[in-house]
Amino acid sequence: MSRFYLSYVAVIAISSSIFGNSADDTALMIDPKLHHIRNAEPREWSNFPAEAEAKELRVDFELESPEGFSLLTLQHKSTKQTWAVTLNDKALGKLIRDHNHLESGFLIPPGTLTPGTNTLLIKTESPKPDDILVGAVELHRGAAALVSVSEAASLAKKRGFRREIPKMKTEVSLTARDASRNLPIPCRFTIIDADSGALVFVGAESSDNLAVREGVAYSLDGRATFRLAGSEARPRRYKIYCGRGFEYGLETSTIEVSGQEEPLQLNFSLVHEVETPGLVACDPHLHTFEFDRHGDCTLTERLISVAGEGIELPVSTAHDKHIDYGDEVKRIGVSRWCTTVPGCEVTTHLGHFNTFPILSGAKPAEHKLRSWSRIFHNIFATPGVRICILNHGRDVHRGYTPLHPDNFDSETGTFLRGEKLQANAMELINSGAQQTDPMELVRDWFSLLKSGHSIAPIGSSDSHTVNFAIPGQARTYIRADDSDVTGINVDEVVDSLLAGKSMVSFGLLTTLEYHSKSEEVSLKVLGPSWTRVSTIELFRNGVEVRSIAVPEAAGKVPGTKYAARFSLKDWDAKSGDFICAVASGPGIAEGWWPMMPPYQPDKPEYRPFVMGISEAVYLK
Ligand SMILES: [Zn+2]
Ligand SMILES: [Zn+2]
Repeated sequence: MSRFYLSYVAVIAISSSIFGNSADDTALMIDPKLHHIRNAEPREWSNFPAEAEAKELRVDFELESPEGFSLLTLQHKSTKQTWAVTLNDKALGKLIRDHNHLESGFLIPPGTLTPGTNTLLIKTESPKPDDILVGAVELHRGAAALVSVSEAASLAKKRGFRREIPKMKTEVSLTARDASRNLPIPCRFTIIDADSGALVFVGAESSDNLAVREGVAYSLDGRATFRLAGSEARPRRYKIYCGRGFEYGLETSTIEVSGQEEPLQLNFSLVHEVETPGLVACDPHLHTFEFDRHGDCTLTERLISVAGEGIELPVSTAHDKHIDYGDEVKRIGVSRWCTTVPGCEVTTHLGHFNTFPILSGAKPAEHKLRSWSRIFHNIFATPGVRICILNHGRDVHRGYTPLHPDNFDSETGTFLRGEKLQANAMELINSGAQQTDPMELVRDWFSLLKSGHSIAPIGSSDSHTVNFAIPGQARTYIRADDSDVTGINVDEVVDSLLAGKSMVSFGLLTTLEYHSKSEEVSLKVLGPSWTRVSTIELFRNGVEVRSIAVPEAAGKVPGTKYAARFSLKDWDAKSGDFICAVASGPGIAEGWWPMMPPYQPDKPEYRPFVMGISEAVYLK
């Protein structure tokens, strides 16, 4: 039994206290508090206090007998830069760069801890301001061995990091079934500490059926079994959520884990709340660490997570590589739930372009070309390619922003350097790299349509991870037959996209239908019970003509949240015009479907939002 002392020194106000042994005799809490740390000014996000506690976290603690402690765990939140964790000057690792509130574990090399004073230091060398919360530091006697040494090594290689978690006792088994057919269904289980809101250690490892991260287990067959922390002396309460992305309901249950010997069992039944016949759910922007060396996701985990979010048409878009998901899809049985399309993110110095479909054996397009005309010529020369999406057009990559005012006049929709945009689609919402002003890219799209470009609206996730950027969170609904998701006709989907028949969904789905005989337009806003539409804006030729406030109760209804039929007069519209509707409402910050703040923010204010952007309907 160790007695120890704790002090925060240097930059943190000195606080010296003595804790008894942790209630759980395998763990020792050395600092229960979460600290607000900011490495550099100014404040990154306005929801953090104006003043941080310190620029780095340094915790000095006394240990009488360090023997046996081999794992350090902590919690952190809103970590964007690379923060190094060192213990007595030995590097333990880096905090995962993730906006979520997470529990993380680090192995302590033998001989690192000493009797007497020990020092934990968490700091970043980055000059970019990063407001983070970090703390709740504990020492543990041993880490859990979830898989064999060779499997752990193979996973670490494919996803670029090792999960190290404490040993936990109580087993929890979860199942999910489709409520209407009573059959097992792929899903996302989210496990959150009911008191702190943290995504907690999940005592299981990814397999051919599970994609596991702290607080999250995507399951391909609707079953997951894992261990959770909690003992009689230190019981813990968890909120467990079960969902399947945008179209399904969200079920939740609270459990207390107090070291039970018997497994705990929870069974969920998911209602398909948002019916989308004739609309293919597509995420046309997906990555893996395994092939992109960025993010944290293996190919297997990507496929399980995509199925768990209900994506019917995932497009593989590794950077400048052609990765066909097909063999792995068949091997693990994801082929029951979707049709995959080989594509590529052609990653040039003059913008990133997602391209598909790609014929087997085709060589990736050259990504080092320096003019758009050559880039687009090269892209469309790739065998099979018919779709070219302008990705994240307002973001800076390699010093270049395709839609920057130096390159693009957003009033007239014209490019200023003599280049012609030959992309036939563009991302309006990239949920992994959001904009501070969510309407900016929508306005860009309107002005491109007005200047004669033919461009389909796209929603995508750009997910490189299992959970940080949730796959399919922003997605594209494309008008095409989706009655058999195992054999979606990709040519039909592509034809539909080329005709502009797509909708951008980010927690909401907005559809328009033009009835030419009666000169009326049907407008619908759809969404699950867990999102709300509050405002719908109607646009004619890119100009807002009307704003509709949706009453709170109606906006929360599962399925059709709003439906109305308008005459063309209501839109001030006439033949030859194009019309569009954009629905929006409050977004989700909680860990069961967290939305990420803007990737390259213009200002420190951020409030999560949901949005559904209709296709642009041309009135003939
Ligand atoms: Zn990109
Ligand atoms: Zn990307």
